[in-house]
Amino acid sequence: MLEPAQTRSHSSRRDRNPAASLSCADVTHSEIADTPRSRVFVITGPSGVGKGTVITRLREMRPNLGLSVSATTRAPRAGEVDGVDYHFLGQEQFAEHVAAGDFAEHAEYSGNRYGTLRSELERHHETGGVVLEIELQGARQIRAAMPEATQIFIAPPSAETLRERLTGRGTDSAGDIERRLAVAEGELAAQNEFEHVVVNDDLELAVRQLDAIVGGRDG
Ligand code: ADP
Ligand code: 5GP
Repeated sequence: MLEPAQTRSHSSRRDRNPAASLSCADVTHSEIADTPRSRVFVITGPSGVGKGTVITRLREMRPNLGLSVSATTRAPRAGEVDGVDYHFLGQEQFAEHVAAGDFAEHAEYSGNRYGTLRSELERHHETGGVVLEIELQGARQIRAAMPEATQIFIAPPSAETLRERLTGRGTDSAGDIERRLAVAEGELAAQNEFEHVVVNDDLELAVRQLDAIVGGRDG
């Protein structure tokens, strides 16, 4: 079921980015598409695989690498800060942003909506690149709109490990964990779509592999 891939890695969203403005800059598709390939990194993988954890570690090593703060209709978890972990929006606010074309991508995941504001991509345009931590549907939308972006899938060493990590994180209800694991089946089946796959078994190794990809040293 889980095939070892070329590379394998892990990370979390606790990235404490400088608070971002929710103002939606008028960034056009072409401006986004003009962003050099090496500057946009899409990181996808099932919930609980460790995306946030590896991204945090990666950004400690690469302080100029920005993180896109996503918008979501999900309720904040304990400790999550608006504008840092997410832009927490109501259904109506989210729908307004969709209608205004403010999102570079957006998707529904496990009963909530998530999206990348174009203003987040613009915010990091002049820095050392930007990481988008997003789920599969969003990654596909970015791939279609920005084929030059680097796409990285973070895979778990096994399905059992994924369940253990989701449970061990202690942030989601039993029902939500089951829903996330059900979504994970489809996500894992899609990993071959990705240019890079990093298996997050040993954290240090995964971070090194991710860093090599971001640094353009991955074969
Ligand atoms: P995601 O952002 O993909 O949902 P997290 O970064 O929140 O996942 O990680 C889920 C849980 O797994 C966290 O408790 C984290 O500490 C743990 N974790 C992440 N990577 C590893 C790893 N390589 N080995 C063991 N535990 C890990
Ligand atoms: P969580 O609720 O655990 O924070 O996130 C659930 C899922 O939504 C994760 O797979 C996460 O990567 C994804 N996600 C977070 N932000 C975005 C976003 O802006 N767009 C999309 N498509 N997915 C996102």
